[in-house]
Formats: sequence, C-alpha cells, structure tokens
Amino acid sequence: MAKVRIDKDKCKGCGLCILYCPVKKLEFSLDLNKKGVRYAKGKEDTSCIGCGNCYLICPDCCIEVYEDKKEIKST
Ligand code: SF4
Ligand code: SF4
Repeated sequence: MAKVRIDKDKCKGCGLCILYCPVKKLEFSLDLNKKGVRYAKGKEDTSCIGCGNCYLICPDCCIEVYEDKKEIKST
C-alpha cells in the first residue's frame, strides 16, 4: 500500500495536493504549523493509490510518496 509523508512545517497550506488527489486522501489539519497555517495531512481512513499527483503538484516539494513494505511473517 502506498503512503504519503508530508513535511508539515514546509507546507504553506495552498491546498493544491488536496484538490488534485483523486481519492480524497488528503485534508487540512486542525492545528497550525510553524508558519501559522493549517497544513495538509493524510486522512486515516482513506487509502492512497500512489498516483503521485500530490508529489508532482506541490510547489514547495513537501510530499513524499512511498510504498509501505510491512513484512508479512509466516507461522
Ligand atoms: S499519491 Fe495520489 S492518491 Fe496518494 S495522496 Fe497523493 S494524490 Fe492522493
Ligand atoms: S501542495 Fe504542498 S504546500 Fe500546498 S497544501 Fe499541499 S503540501 Fe502544502
């Protein structure tokens, strides 16, 4: 499963990543970052499909998209 990591203190709260996420995975935080803006963050209950739109659209390069490689342990 894909995941996103957002550098919250670099985020200027422009909302482009939220607007262009096709599965509405991103939202604004309720709290403020060091710049005093509500930053973008991933929703807990929505799956990221790893399309990379948010990574490409962010003007300040705040977002990383990566594959979550949890080890599956056999019994
Ligand atoms: S990679 Fe795609 S699906 Fe995942 S949060 Fe970014 S825009 Fe949304
Ligand atoms: S596009 Fe970048 S700067 Fe704009 S809200 Fe998203 S993470 Fe923040």
